[in-house]
Amino acid sequence: MYWVEMLFQTEFFSNPVLNKILKPILSQRTPRIHHFPELSDDVIAHNKKVPGTVGLKTQLELFRIFYLVKGLDKASRFAELVKDVDNCHDCGLCEGAKNRVNGEGDMDSRVVFLGEAPGRREDDSGRPFVGSAGKLLDNLLAGAGINRARIFISNVVRCRPPGNRRPKRSEVEACSHFIERLLEIIAPYVITPMGNSAIKFLFERYGLGEAVIGDVHGKPIKVEMPWGRVLVFPLYHPAAAIYNRKLLEVLEADMKTLVALL
Ligand code: SF4
Repeated sequence: MYWVEMLFQTEFFSNPVLNKILKPILSQRTPRIHHFPELSDDVIAHNKKVPGTVGLKTQLELFRIFYLVKGLDKASRFAELVKDVDNCHDCGLCEGAKNRVNGEGDMDSRVVFLGEAPGRREDDSGRPFVGSAGKLLDNLLAGAGINRARIFISNVVRCRPPGNRRPKRSEVEACSHFIERLLEIIAPYVITPMGNSAIKFLFERYGLGEAVIGDVHGKPIKVEMPWGRVLVFPLYHPAAAIYNRKLLEVLEADMKTLVALL
């Protein structure tokens, strides 16, 4: 439980009116600052200040500030992570890479999509999923009513493998602590590995059994993470569906299942 939620349990924030207003917001996995309501004059007028606590309006303002701090905290932890990735030479893939691709998106997203590795377009731009597979992913997201700007997308390795080959197991292992740090910062409700490398990595890392994509795609698996219960929801990699109509239909159906989970 995050320290803001813990603070909420204390006597200082024991105002029953505030509890009623904030409980549904704080019970969301990723409450956002804009979820906090303005207090109407009526609510304020009806609220009697509880002895030993601060007033309702002050408490709500404090919560706004705490959540602003929480957002800044995520941003600063992500900036630290990017700095560490930039200085990393652990697996040697960086030697042939132009850019390290950390990922991008909403730090408060309920879902993190994890691909395999940057390709040529991603290496050139430093952004994930901007090539043809990225365009297909954008279409799939849009078709399912998901705004790409409101999710987070990354890869299991940060540097492009030469010739777009699949990253080796040793390279995925060397890069894995960056993914784990990223996931802890964002603390998503759903992790969506796309393609064999990402699925294999998550299944091995969290002891989820055999990772045969044909069997596991589109099926959520519960995993306990340091920030709470998470669903791992494997998908085919969009690149595999570019010239395969059948796989595209499978991906479209799985994406709809994913939306229902969010
Ligand atoms: S792929 Fe990851 S582990 Fe390898 S050099 Fe790049 S950042 Fe470091």
